[in-house]
Amino acid sequence: MPIGSPTVGEAELAAVAEVFRSGWLAGSGPTCRRFEERFARAVGVRHALATSSCGTALHLGLRVLGVARADEVIVADYTFLATAHAVVHAGATPVFVDVRGDTGTVDPDAVAAAVTSRTVGIIAVDVAGQPADYDELAAVARRHGLWLFEDAACAAGATYRGRPAGSLADLAAFSFHGRKGITAGEGGALVSDREELIERARRLHSYGIVPAIERESATGLPVPGCEEAGYNYRLSDVQAAIMTAQLDRLPGLLASRRAVAERYREGFADLPGVTPAVELPDREHAWQAYHLTVACGEERDRIATRLRERGIGCGFGTYACHLQPVYGSDRHLPVSARLLATRLAIPMHANLTGAEVDRVIGEVRSAVAGSP
Ligand SMILES: *Cc1c(COP(=O)(O)O)cnc(C)c1O
Repeated sequence: MPIGSPTVGEAELAAVAEVFRSGWLAGSGPTCRRFEERFARAVGVRHALATSSCGTALHLGLRVLGVARADEVIVADYTFLATAHAVVHAGATPVFVDVRGDTGTVDPDAVAAAVTSRTVGIIAVDVAGQPADYDELAAVARRHGLWLFEDAACAAGATYRGRPAGSLADLAAFSFHGRKGITAGEGGALVSDREELIERARRLHSYGIVPAIERESATGLPVPGCEEAGYNYRLSDVQAAIMTAQLDRLPGLLASRRAVAERYREGFADLPGVTPAVELPDREHAWQAYHLTVACGEERDRIATRLRERGIGCGFGTYACHLQPVYGSDRHLPVSARLLATRLAIPMHANLTGAEVDRVIGEVRSAVAGSP
């Protein structure tokens, strides 16, 4: 039983067949444009740019926000490494801050305490698909004149106080990697209400020139001007077609994941030493992953070994970035370090049956009880 699994089928195949017939397979074409418009509406913003990954969307976002050498960017520590790597790729220094013990999302007080004269902005992470504390974070950002960036990699379809994930900061980045809630295998998006940011990112993601689709409608043969050395960070139109079908499925996928989370919550409610995942009352979790919290690290590892022996996929949740050799940070971030040691990710995807969920619950319960 895998820990994650995509939901793809005939609708995605039909969408791909249509792109094949259209002849436009490269990125930034008509299918991408249609997807971008629909995705922007779905996440409650005015503009979206489809990208090759969330990592490239984060990098583009930092570039258009003007991040440069000597800048410090405050980064939520408990996240996938891509969040911090983007800061390094932009030439700046990530300053890791600690997180809440219940949700794993960044602690707004810790963010406020980490601001220095070199700080330019904050990257918050919607951990496993649950939005961070954006009202408090926006207040800190306003007070210090910083920008706020939402890493919504796992959060398509989540909400915070009635607003969709993706609309909660100056910019947001999504991932369409195979392990996320909606997927084209690989892919991502950068979204914002600020047109100038997305339009500059659009050129940067296409080697620094206007995408081919815009040149096609020009009169004559104007040579595009390039003002900045850009990248190829495009999502192909083949992937965009898959994403359009995935977007149609999103409400159903969210409902299936929510049902799994409900069943897990009931199944683990009375289990000593194991805490079910927390969903705060003012937000809707997208349930990209389901993290149990186990009382101590050795016990977590013991349960994990047992689940694997029984063919049930599991994982450690996500990373405490400051503990990775590449960051070798001497900051003391005890909550993030504890979550790394005690969280146990168990199967969570939209294809799980009730019987499979019950089997996971049963195996975790017998592992805790120490029964053979
Ligand atoms: C998966 C993930 C990423 C990276 O996404 P890619 O599309 O693989 O680049 C970044 N941040 C978070 C929080 C993630 O979970």
